Amino acid sequence: MKTYDYSSLAVPGVRQLRPYTPGKPIAELEREYGVRESIKLASNENPLGASPMALAAIRDELDDLWLYPDANGFELKRALARLHDVDPACITLGNGSNDVLVFLAQAFLQPGLEAVFSQYCFAVYPIACQMVGAEMRVAPALPADSPMPLGHDLRAMYQRVGPDTRMVFIANPNNPTGTWLEAARVKDFIGSLPPHTLCVVDEAYTEYADGDRLGNAAGWLREFPNLVVTRTFSKAYGLAGLRVGYALSNPGVADLLNRVRPAFNVNSLALTAARAALDDQAFIDHSREVNAAGMRQLQDGLEGLGLKVLPSAANFVLVDFGRPVAAIDEALLRAGIIVRPVANYGLEQHLRITIGRPEQNSRLLKSLADILGRT
Ligand SMILES: *Cc1c(COP(=O)(O)O)cnc(C)c1O
Repeated sequence: MKTYDYSSLAVPGVRQLRPYTPGKPIAELEREYGVRESIKLASNENPLGASPMALAAIRDELDDLWLYPDANGFELKRALARLHDVDPACITLGNGSNDVLVFLAQAFLQPGLEAVFSQYCFAVYPIACQMVGAEMRVAPALPADSPMPLGHDLRAMYQRVGPDTRMVFIANPNNPTGTWLEAARVKDFIGSLPPHTLCVVDEAYTEYADGDRLGNAAGWLREFPNLVVTRTFSKAYGLAGLRVGYALSNPGVADLLNRVRPAFNVNSLALTAARAALDDQAFIDHSREVNAAGMRQLQDGLEGLGLKVLPSAANFVLVDFGRPVAAIDEALLRAGIIVRPVANYGLEQHLRITIGRPEQNSRLLKSLADILGRT
């Protein structure tokens, strides 16, 4: 039987695509390494788990699982509209915010059109752009010795915006660097863009960040018609496994995003849990406090080991080991600790570490001290 070279059949963008590299799941580590009681500090999940109110809401929803979910997400959108003081018509729900990033590329990009983003930006932006064959204009990041090492250089990004640029991506704070931009600088940047260029501000970690410095882009929608803000329930809300995120934009943009959105992209448990999680402000406040204390614990401990920790406004830190980290990462896995290598970003001397609970942070620091003492 003749076999086809299917890769020659794929559209060019897909042929060159390399899939997103996720953090290693705990079960996979335990299967492969025969270790137990391992911890995962690799995917910026909330180490406290999910909001108890969200979990209770899911249990009540189980009897209705035979029904299709509400394709319009009416209740969740109504709650989000109230939270952000916008019309529900400004909201696009996604199966995680990854989903809405893909809708943006599908709705606004194609070969011959361009997207601008920064070196070391979140890996999903180039994947979404490549998939639809758009031109990617990558701005060099700020240098390693700047106050915001490896962060977005807005000036360099602006220089890459042209007549065919339909979209600019900013993550504030950014993953995997943790670096951030002051609110006033982001607003100046959005205001300077031509009207045909959408500015996507990805606020996946905003619940952890200092709102006075980074601002709240969701509150700027009336000022900037070309602004799109993305948010997620995967990080501070602790619902990564359910997959819910959303975009806020002007209603015209939301209408277009909703045309490419599959009707039932957010399942009924996710809709219910997200809706309930919004009411649990105490859980978010507690998560913020645990994160701030863990950030100090990890920064102090890692610097005590002679490592360089990049400034972070999120729930993780990027650590510069000053040498290739593959062996260190491997030794951590053997010790039952999963962190995130970032070689796929071109960062072979760094590891990204999610801030855990105090005892998890201590265990990581102790293991690292052992490993660095040996190697
Ligand atoms: C984690 C993350 C997301 C989204 O994750 P979802 O689980 O798809 O909502 C988006 N942007 C950044 C920068 C992230 O780190």
